[in-house]
Amino acid sequence: MKIICIGRNYASHAKELNNPIPKEPVIFMKPDSSLIRNNQPFFIPEFSEDVHHEVELVVKINKLGKHVDKKFAHKYYNEIGIGIDFTARDLQSKMKENGLPWEKAKGFDGSAPLGKFLPKSTFDNVEDINFHLDINGKRVQTGNTSDMLFSIHAIIEHVSKYFTLKIGDLIYTGTPEGVGPVTAGDKLNCFIEEKELLAFNVR
Ligand code: ZN
Repeated sequence: MKIICIGRNYASHAKELNNPIPKEPVIFMKPDSSLIRNNQPFFIPEFSEDVHHEVELVVKINKLGKHVDKKFAHKYYNEIGIGIDFTARDLQSKMKENGLPWEKAKGFDGSAPLGKFLPKSTFDNVEDINFHLDINGKRVQTGNTSDMLFSIHAIIEHVSKYFTLKIGDLIYTGTPEGVGPVTAGDKLNCFIEEKELLAFNVR
């Protein structure tokens, strides 16, 4: 399986990092070794002094797809979950300055904690889903899918032009504003609407 991630998909987040608003989805990948499941702890890697949390809705692909038209995209996933796209911001900044790929800053071991999923049928409208991240009981990021620059269905259309979607592939759909560093001892709790689907400690 592969993990496809969308960067800068909320205007407010692109702005907070002084990035331009993209005209088409910004795509990068994480290897399967980046996943953390079952609320296992996240260990801050020794090579970064500035690991940021990015809470994101995650779509799980359930059907083989290539060149999927936006209007059929809803047939390619059945579940929506939540995860964190951990980013070694100090490494990423250096890579961006030098025009280099982001993989080491984005795809390192444990950089993709993944929570439980909800059936898509839970939601009346996938373009109006609220989600949030609390750290140590304090709300730090809140998002709503209506603020995405590229909707879930637009993302599936775009991504599947370049990469065949396979059953079990995950799409991290981008983070809203409010990203920031985590430190050892932090407790992260992620919610879709009011349902807690992911909870883990930083070590
Ligand atoms: Zn992200």
